[in-house]
Amino acid sequence: MSRFFSVKFADHVAYVPGEQPREQKYIKLNTNENPFPPSPLAQQLACQAAGDLALYPDPHCTELTRAACEKWGVAANEIIFGNSSDVVLSWLFIAFCDHEHVPVFADVTYGFYPVFASFNGLTPKVIPLQKDLTIRPEDYYNAGGTVFIVNPNADVGLALTVQQVADIVEHNPDNVVVIDEAYVDFGAETVLPLIHKYPNLAVTRTFSKSYSMAGARLGCVMADEGLIGDLQVVKNSINPYSVNRMSMAAGQGALLDEEYFEANRQKIMENRAYTIQALKDLGFATTNSLGNFVPFKSDRIHSKELFGKLKEEGILVRFFSEGPWGDYNRVSIGSREEMETFIRAVQKIMEASR
Ligand SMILES: *Cc1c(COP(=O)(O)O)cnc(C)c1O
Repeated sequence: MSRFFSVKFADHVAYVPGEQPREQKYIKLNTNENPFPPSPLAQQLACQAAGDLALYPDPHCTELTRAACEKWGVAANEIIFGNSSDVVLSWLFIAFCDHEHVPVFADVTYGFYPVFASFNGLTPKVIPLQKDLTIRPEDYYNAGGTVFIVNPNADVGLALTVQQVADIVEHNPDNVVVIDEAYVDFGAETVLPLIHKYPNLAVTRTFSKSYSMAGARLGCVMADEGLIGDLQVVKNSINPYSVNRMSMAAGQGALLDEEYFEANRQKIMENRAYTIQALKDLGFATTNSLGNFVPFKSDRIHSKELFGKLKEEGILVRFFSEGPWGDYNRVSIGSREEMETFIRAVQKIMEASR
């Protein structure tokens, strides 16, 4: 840190992204990317858009918004796009968190939330999961701050029901409740229809997981027009052209290609079922994850050792060095072939450690 860095960041610790090796030598199952390429239509529209890169993009994302409204059943003034879900989440922290409305989230959740809190100079209220790894809705009633819940939850993969989320929103009438639906397309139920009922509910989505577009950086927030108006102010105070032309076009293609999207997510869910069963058969504790990832642990081998040995076998998984989730590893759901290779490697490591 140079002596010029603002004192307001003196104690700040930034997010550490999962490893992104430059060489192709690993089977990469550590950052919940989709193993399949984006829809051919998404690719085609992105290529066409490249010809217009000399011009600033449409700040209102008109065509993309139209496709999203059609697919998700929201109005144009109930949605805002940004160049990643991380970015729209940062807008939500800027817009709706302060010392009277501190961020409130679970101890096991998206690892960026504590970073956003600290970056905004706020100490979050952190609520532990229950023993069964679920979120207890009552713990979030009258939370006294802006609530952030990943549903289904990051790393764990378990989901609240729509009714449970509605109860949380109703019990926080003076605070915004943000539901991060990064993984919702892999089998959980969306709470999106509730935005028409509650002016204090915001739902975020990303194109990084179920639309195979992590490299495009595209995400959005859907909420009552009041909240969206506030987010427009934040967006237009940082970068009104948040979404670039190629990502905007790719997003539109991805939304229009319903058939490809459906086939893609079905494959991920099938491969997840295979992976969960195979891990259970090998004696691992896991969850019935509804995300494109599965947590796993065994008392026969430490998570750090298993992570290292899998890496030696050419497989990258996510290892959580510390915290309540420290004894778990997390594997992202790849192609069937990748998951079979992963399971064979785990089996080999467990046999060798007997
Ligand atoms: C992946 C993820 C994000 C970030 O999505 P990007 O659009 O790639 O920034 C946000 N929240 C959760 C829970 C995620 O898993």
